[in-house]
This record gives sequence, structure tokens and C-alpha cells, in this order.
Amino acid sequence: MARTFDQLTPPAALVEIGRDFHARGWMAGTAGNLSIRVHERGVDSFWITASGLPKGRMEETDCLRIGVAEGAIVEQLQPRTKPSAESSIHQTIYRLFPEARACLHVHTVDACLACENVCPGVEEMPLPPLEMIKGLGIWEQHPQVTLPLFDNILDVTQIAAAIERRFHATPPCLPALMIRNHGITVWGNSAQEAYDRVEIVEFIMSYMAGRR
Ligand SMILES: [Zn+2]
Repeated sequence: MARTFDQLTPPAALVEIGRDFHARGWMAGTAGNLSIRVHERGVDSFWITASGLPKGRMEETDCLRIGVAEGAIVEQLQPRTKPSAESSIHQTIYRLFPEARACLHVHTVDACLACENVCPGVEEMPLPPLEMIKGLGIWEQHPQVTLPLFDNILDVTQIAAAIERRFHATPPCLPALMIRNHGITVWGNSAQEAYDRVEIVEFIMSYMAGRR
């Protein structure tokens, strides 16, 4: 049987996923952030990678746990770690989708290229009807789905607020979103499902970017 990320503790899974994505060039430098939700001691919370660390060389103690409701640190494995600067986006996803158990965000060249031709102001990027769309839970003969697009804003909490506003009004048809000139955020009902979905969305982004 394949060993899934769900068989590891959340910090161990985040370390392994970070090494994997960094090796593919999806978390260059200290870019990107990864989280896994847990209910521990009655607190709805998520383990997330710390800010400013190389994602290919993290240790389990480089992860910390944050409450979904208020965003405060509830567990820290070593002093001085700070939560990812983009924690507010993870917090928003977990608040919006109670079934979400993991949220993964990577910065990739292909995702940035894929949305380059989408006019400013357009909020949905149509995806090609590839077989891989099935991996995102869409089982249709000719799927016509779009990836929600958000503007990249220096103050990340404003991106999180925009996601909350739009998804509250209109839930997305895919468990994924794209921030222009920045990267994708994908969620799933388990760490393994979120990981698989990142691979699928990146496959589609690469296709759209003309890399395949
Ligand atoms: Zn980012």
C-alpha cells in the first residue's frame, strides 16, 4: 500500500511536502506555505509552515499551530518562529470550507504564465477540458470550469478578505484559486488529496502555459 501524507503527523507531512515541492521548483527560496488542519484539545486549528524559512530544508519544529477562529498561535515547537505571512488566506479557506483538512500554496512560473493573457478585472480563468479535471472532482464529458482569479495585493489580509467576500457570495466550482502573478492555493479533505490536487492544477497550468 502506498504511504500517504495522512499517515504522518501534520508537521512531518508539511516537511515532506515542502521538500517535494521545493525540489520541483514550486517553492523557490522561501516562497509558498503549507498547512494541515487538526482538531486538538477541542480547538479547530491548523499546523502551518513558519515564515521566511527555506521550504526544502524545514524541520518539524519549523511548523506552528494557529486557531482557525481567531488566528492566534496555539502551539509553537520552538521560540522565534513566526507564522507564514499568508496565514490569513489559510484561515479564510478553513473558515469557508469546514470539510477542508489541508491547504497548500505554491509559487510557480507556469501558473503565472497561464493567467498572463487573462485581462485585468476578469475574475475567472476558463480551464481547458482536460482529462485531469476529473482529479478535481468534476466528472463531465466536456467540463467547462473556471479557476477563480484574485489580484495580488501587497497586504495579504486584503487578498484573504477578497477571497472571503467572493466565495461567501459564490462558492467556487473547484477546490482551488489563483492569485495573479503569484501562484495557486489548493485545498482538500486530506493532506494527500490537497497534494494530489496541487499536482493536477499545476499540470493544467503547465498545459495552458504551453510547456507540454
Ligand atoms: Zn504566496
